[in-house]
Amino acid sequence: EARKRLIAGLIRDVPDFPKPGVTFKDITPLLASPNGFQAAITEIIDAAPRDIDVVVGMEARGFIFASPVALALGAGFVPVRKPGKLPGAVLSQSFELEYGSAELNLHADAIKPDARVLVVDDVLATGGTVGATAALLKQIGAELVHVSVVMELGFLGGREYLVQRGIDSSSAIL
Ligand code: 5GP
Repeated sequence: EARKRLIAGLIRDVPDFPKPGVTFKDITPLLASPNGFQAAITEIIDAAPRDIDVVVGMEARGFIFASPVALALGAGFVPVRKPGKLPGAVLSQSFELEYGSAELNLHADAIKPDARVLVVDDVLATGGTVGATAALLKQIGAELVHVSVVMELGFLGGREYLVQRGIDSSSAIL
C-alpha cells in the first residue's frame, strides 16, 4: 500500500491536455524518481502470472514499462507500434477513438503462436489500445495471459471493456 501511494503521488494531473476538458495523467515525474519507477516495475512484476514468454509494450510510453518487466521475467520484449514504423511484414488492427479511428501494427513473425504474453502499458483509459493489441495477438494465435498497467482511469470503463472480451487485467494504482 505504501508502494501504491508512492506511485500515485508521482503521477501529475495536467488539466486541459491534450485538449480542453481532458485531464492528462503525466507519468514523467514517476519516471524521474528512481524509487517511484522501481516501485511501478515491482508492482507489475508482482502481479504478473508465471511462465510469460513475451512482454508486449505499446508505443510509446508502454515501451518504458514493458522493457524492464521483460528483463525481470526472463521474457522477450515485443513492440506494438503506430503505422509506418516497423520495417518487416506487419499485422494491422484498427480501432475506434472518440473522434475517428487509429491503427496499430505488430511484426507478423515476432511472436510464436503458442506464446504466453503479458501486455504492459502506462495508462488504461477506454481500453481501445489494449483491445487492438489483444486482436493482434489473436491474429497470431498467441495467448494473452494478463494485462498490467501503471494506472487505470476507472471512470472510462477500460476494465469492463476488457472483461467483456475475456481479458484479465490489473493496475498498480486506480
Ligand atoms: P485507451 O486506448 O485505453 O483509451 O487509451 C490508453 C492509451 O492512451 C495508452 O496507450 C496511454 O498511453 C494513452 N493515454 C490515454 N490517456 C492517457 C493519460 O491521461 N495519460 C497517459 N500517460 N497516457 C494516456
